[in-house]
Parts: sequence; structure tokens; C-alpha cells
Amino acid sequence: MKFYILTLFPEMVMQGLSASILGKAAQRGAIAVEAVNIRDYTKDKHLKVDDYPYGGGAGMVMQAQPIFDAYQAVRERIGYVPRTIYLTPQGPVFHQAMAKAMAKEEDLVFLCGHYEGVDERVLEEIVTDYVSIGDYVLTGGELPAMVMVDAISRMVPGVLTNEESGLRETFEGNLLEYPQYSRPKVWRGKEVPSVLMSGDHKKIEDWRREQSVLRTKKYRPDLLKKADLTIKEKAVYGVNEI
Ligand code: SAM
Repeated sequence: MKFYILTLFPEMVMQGLSASILGKAAQRGAIAVEAVNIRDYTKDKHLKVDDYPYGGGAGMVMQAQPIFDAYQAVRERIGYVPRTIYLTPQGPVFHQAMAKAMAKEEDLVFLCGHYEGVDERVLEEIVTDYVSIGDYVLTGGELPAMVMVDAISRMVPGVLTNEESGLRETFEGNLLEYPQYSRPKVWRGKEVPSVLMSGDHKKIEDWRREQSVLRTKKYRPDLLKKADLTIKEKAVYGVNEI
């Protein structure tokens, strides 16, 4: 899968996405990330990419022409109209199911806004999805693009070496993941729950399931209402009373 990130700060996204698990996945060819510098496409002789907003108001607006030409260059290269995401606090909030669905695309284009935002006309021309990463306003779309590329990549086959870890974690079935422990057995007087050392896989599975449900009830009761629970679990954990 290939990600194209249209941005004014290509070094920021490339640095952020070339380390650790994603960097290794790119080396293996499971994913590829390309930052496309919008400024390279401006026709302005001073390399300007923004201008004052019509109607007045604070800040600058990213102009349509350089963004459109940067997008067209990608589109011509891949030979079809790609799914194109504008990172914006005005979009629906990104979540795990979106990451999973987007991981099925062959190519994804991200447009990172900056300053006061982007000329509406180019958004109308190229954007297929408007996505926010949360209800707060950031200075630019680069961090949101990196967040999305990270979460989507984890759902691409071959990115996580142990595919299990992508299947059985927080948000699967609308439950949070159970607590995890590693060595030593006792740390600052706190012992690892004995069931995890029992060797009894059935008991371990049951304990983890219970912990997942209890955690979700405590921290994200909104999720628990949508969780895949049995009728018995719903009764035991009082889900209908939440
Ligand atoms: N004036 C815009 C508004 O009120 O909707 C906000 C512009 S913001 C300062 C600059 C850019 O940061 C946006 O164009 C967008 O690309 C990005 N951005 C800011 N907050 C975001 C969020 N929560 N999710 C995704 N992108 C965001």
C-alpha cells in the first residue's frame, strides 16, 4: 500500500514515519510513504503557496493551484482517481474501523492543511473524505496524517510481524484490551496476577476477557454498549443499566 502526503513540510512527515515498525515495514516493501511538497508545484515566482482570505479575517489560506497540481501529479502517476483525505477538525473523527477499511486501498492521498486552512474550491475538486483526529484544533494536518498513516499501516498485512497483535487489541469488538505484564514476576511489591502463570490457557482467556469487559466499563462505558457481549455477560456486568 502506498501513502502520498501532500504537505508544505515533507521532512516532518518523512522523519516521523521512517522510524521503528513503519520504517521496517517500508524497507520490506509492505508499505511506502511519499511526501509530496506542495511548494514544488506553485507557479508563483516567489514560491508563495498562500494568500489573504477574501472577505477579510485573520491568517492566510492555502491556495488552490499548487495543491491541485501536486494532486494531479500523483493521480497521473498512479493512473486512477485515488481516495483523497483532507485532514480537518471539521470532519468525522477517525476511529479503528475507518483505519481497517482504508487499509484495503492500494493508494491513499492525504492533504495537510496549514494556516487558516485551504481554498474550498480545491477541496471540492479532489477530496473524497474529510477526517478529523479529534475535537481540537492543531496548527497543521501533518500530525493528523501521521496518526492516520500509522493506524492504517498496522492493518495492512505484513506490517506487524505478529499479525495476532493487530487482531486482538483495543477496539476489537468494541472492547479495550486486557492489562499486560512482563518480567519480573514481582516489581515494587506488585505481583503479576497468578492466573497468567498457571499455564491454563482456558483460564487465562477467561481472565483476559473479564478484564477487557471491566476495563471498558470503567474507562469507556460508551463503547461497552456497542460491544460484542453474550447475554450472560451483559447481565453479569450490568451493561443494560449503563
Ligand atoms: N480554520 C480552520 C477551522 O477552524 O476549521 C482550522 C485550520 S487549522 C489551524 C490548520 C490545519 O490543521 C487544517 O487545515 C487541518 O489540515 C489541520 N488540522 C487542525 N486540527 C485538526 C484536527 N483535529 N484533525 C485533522 N486535521 C486538523
